[in-house]
Amino acid sequence: MDKNTLLQVWPIPAFDDNYLWCIHDGKSALVVDPGDSGPVEDYLLQNQLTLKGILVTHHHADHTGGILNLLHRFGSDLPVYGPAGTNIPGRTVTVKEGDKVEIASPSISLKVFEVPGHTLSHIAYFANTQANIVDPMLFCGDTLFASGCGRLFEGTPTQMTQSLAKFAALPKNTLVYCTHEYTLSNIRFALAVEPDNQNLISWAEKAQALRAQHLPTLPTTIGQELQVNPFMRCDQPEVIAKAKEISGQADLPSPAHVLAVIRAWKDRF
Ligand code: ZN
Ligand code: FE
Repeated sequence: MDKNTLLQVWPIPAFDDNYLWCIHDGKSALVVDPGDSGPVEDYLLQNQLTLKGILVTHHHADHTGGILNLLHRFGSDLPVYGPAGTNIPGRTVTVKEGDKVEIASPSISLKVFEVPGHTLSHIAYFANTQANIVDPMLFCGDTLFASGCGRLFEGTPTQMTQSLAKFAALPKNTLVYCTHEYTLSNIRFALAVEPDNQNLISWAEKAQALRAQHLPTLPTTIGQELQVNPFMRCDQPEVIAKAKEISGQADLPSPAHVLAVIRAWKDRF
């Protein structure tokens, strides 16, 4: 097999802790959430890649700030996919729940999920690429992080719970390309929620070793997050019990009530 036909996904570090993900086949590239243009330009030139399009998950500047420069530099006719209901600079294609983004080069088909919570119009892109001998991929912006979730700037705990439930239903081997390296601080909090979670304890050791070598802790997987991420475990007895203890509430009748408590706790942790 020609290795160039195989999709690859690489992180382009930007700012303090952002990853701008580049999807490419050795020749053609897409970039997800280019908050800055300089690191993307350098990466494309170093790897002799041609930019074919931009995918945007939400309107925050650290995910959109480089779009116009990239269009100026590489072609104002490049497609820029993004959510409706918000201003995305340079956006050419507005996508909503269930839409398919079909790109010829690099060859990839991405399904759109609406995932309100961090922002109201936040979307995610899912590629079920198993047929291409590559694990499924999820580009989730600031909705899901390794062992954590995004702050609720615009949405409600109920919306975030429903958004994370969409991710939980994806194949367990789905690679999750989160956009920030927040893993170690998320793990510190997750351990406060579930100090006896053995999967979390061993993940903490692995993540520390990766960061000690300045390596990304990402991508994570859906299967892994279901085992270690308190925000995806709001239906688990240990997490419910801790949320009751922290909030002093005897009854937390739904996972959204539990998520509301632990998200608020994390905000002040
Ligand atoms: Zn954001
Ligand atoms: Fe962000």
